[in-house]
Amino acid sequence: MRSAGGVIPHLEEREELIRTVRRMNALGINHGSSGNASVRIDGGYLITPSGLAYEDLTPSDIVEMRFDGTVSGHQKPSSEWRFHHDLLAARPDFNAILHTHGVAVMTLACQRLELPPFHYMIAMAGGNTIRCAEYATYGTQALSDNALDAMRDRKACLLANHGLLVGEVSLRRALALAVEIETLCDTYARILQTGAPPILLSDAEMEEVRAQFAKGYGLPPGP
Ligand code: 13P
Ligand code: ZN
Repeated sequence: MRSAGGVIPHLEEREELIRTVRRMNALGINHGSSGNASVRIDGGYLITPSGLAYEDLTPSDIVEMRFDGTVSGHQKPSSEWRFHHDLLAARPDFNAILHTHGVAVMTLACQRLELPPFHYMIAMAGGNTIRCAEYATYGTQALSDNALDAMRDRKACLLANHGLLVGEVSLRRALALAVEIETLCDTYARILQTGAPPILLSDAEMEEVRAQFAKGYGLPPGP
């Protein structure tokens, strides 16, 4: 993977990928070596290796995969490379994909619940709901197909009996969205525990939120 001059290609992107997965564990939205992340490069993407502790990762452990099928690196790519590959290939609006196993996300994903517009921040994922993709075994093409379907017009979906999938223009934004959705799932699980149903926002109210977001909210413009 080192070029003739001994330089690791895409070193900055590899370092950012490692910082991102360490950060998702530090923030408590993922645990252990679960989850994975990828970032687009010219003609392909960089992806975290399978099953390695994030604290131990070094830039050379990151695997480079190209859309023509070429793989370079000394580690095995994430077992979920199919949904990273398929999302980055099908969605030009995504440059980074993040997958987490947060406790609140998993709580609702195991009930196979779609998140309704119970809070205006649901609109951050691009629509009035956050869908839950149909169940399929981890690491399979069926899981990728189901995930892509649930991500239609959205930047995120739950994966049934599994976790969360997020796509964004950058790793920084993907991490911010994953944090927000973990919080929304925690809140929704608490609402369900009260036994009283939430009052849902209307389509018109959610439309207004999306219009507000379009004017700019949160992170400064850019990746
Ligand atoms: P990897 O370690 O292979 O990326 O798998 C973690 C995971 O979350 C599988 O769904
Ligand atoms: Zn997973």
